[in-house]
Amino acid sequence: AMKLGIVGLPNVGKSTLFNAITNAGAESANYPFCTIDPNVGMVAVPDHRLDWLSDFYKPKKTTPAVIEFVDIAGLVKGASKGEGLGNKFLSNIRATDAVVHVVRCFDDPNVIHVEGSTDPLRDIEIIDIELIMADMEMVQRRVEKAAKLVKSGDKKAAREAEVFQELLTWLNEGRSARSYECSEEDAALIATSELLSLKPVIYAANLDEAGFSDYENNAYYKQVSEVAAKEGAQVIPVCAQLEAEIAELESDEKKMFLDDLGIAESGLDRLIKASYALLGLISFLTSGEDECRAWTIKQGTKAPQAAGKIHSDFERGFIRAEVVAFEDLVKCGDLVHAKEKGLVRSEGKEYVMQDGDVVLFRFNV
Ligand code: GDP
Repeated sequence: AMKLGIVGLPNVGKSTLFNAITNAGAESANYPFCTIDPNVGMVAVPDHRLDWLSDFYKPKKTTPAVIEFVDIAGLVKGASKGEGLGNKFLSNIRATDAVVHVVRCFDDPNVIHVEGSTDPLRDIEIIDIELIMADMEMVQRRVEKAAKLVKSGDKKAAREAEVFQELLTWLNEGRSARSYECSEEDAALIATSELLSLKPVIYAANLDEAGFSDYENNAYYKQVSEVAAKEGAQVIPVCAQLEAEIAELESDEKKMFLDDLGIAESGLDRLIKASYALLGLISFLTSGEDECRAWTIKQGTKAPQAAGKIHSDFERGFIRAEVVAFEDLVKCGDLVHAKEKGLVRSEGKEYVMQDGDVVLFRFNV
């Protein structure tokens, strides 16, 4: 499964959020989760379409899509210089596909802030700088390696030396690799370097309950939101403490609780869904009396390769996919009526799968 790292300064609410994530659905048979180790948790991606199918078919088994979260504690100012086991934490980030950056947006005199006060802009910058400095070291090494190759007569390495040198200049100005604009070829080259500041980011603005219930007017949230907008990133408001409480509830209790607070969807559910999208992932669904299931594919996956997720035979012997968009299925009530209305399409090898497609694959064995 794809992995997201939860990063942020100490005492911003990372562990609280992580615990809420790994507890969410623990009470619900539909959403199994498991904790791999204390800092790694698998979590079901909330999916109202799967819930609907499961209610309709009452299958023996319902299997959601999952993603993995890793709680990466211990990032502090100076981490890239080895402060506070810094390098170990930075290498934990290296192993992830994307990052959830938790930013403290609450005041609480009882919860010490390592920098002395709540200041989202400063906090974001501290973390960014640590990632960028760690990257500079790596990029510097790439420049040197490429330069050596050039000396020994490798012509191709010349471009590599140039690209990484330009990137180094960029990073040196305190800017993230992910905001560096370049040609597709250069980007592919840079992607071979596993840079930390290259990873896609979602900001989780951790507010207190009052802040959360009116987050659009919260000054801290606005600050995070501005940073996010500048780099085209998403910011999701959460109240980690509240989420931790909600995560302990049964799903119908949870709904009542949220209704009482006037909240349509928990911040956590939004965060998990946004994380899934950040990874470039979408789900297609299969349904039946035995199992209803959400399958994870990369955006842009074609029908045969999607079929291959279920079984390699499905891909090899692919004939066609019978597809109905979930919304169409719901409108018609069931598959029979969707077929009558001509909304169940027969798609071939070149069909690009869409999020929420409900699919039956036809194949030769
Ligand atoms: P981490 O170091 O980033 O993992 O932070 P923790 O999750 O351990 O949280 C540090 C402290 O802040 C704990 O005592 C939490 O209960 C508290 N905390 C987390 N979120 C909130 C919040 O939204 N409001 C308040 N007042 N405290 C919070």
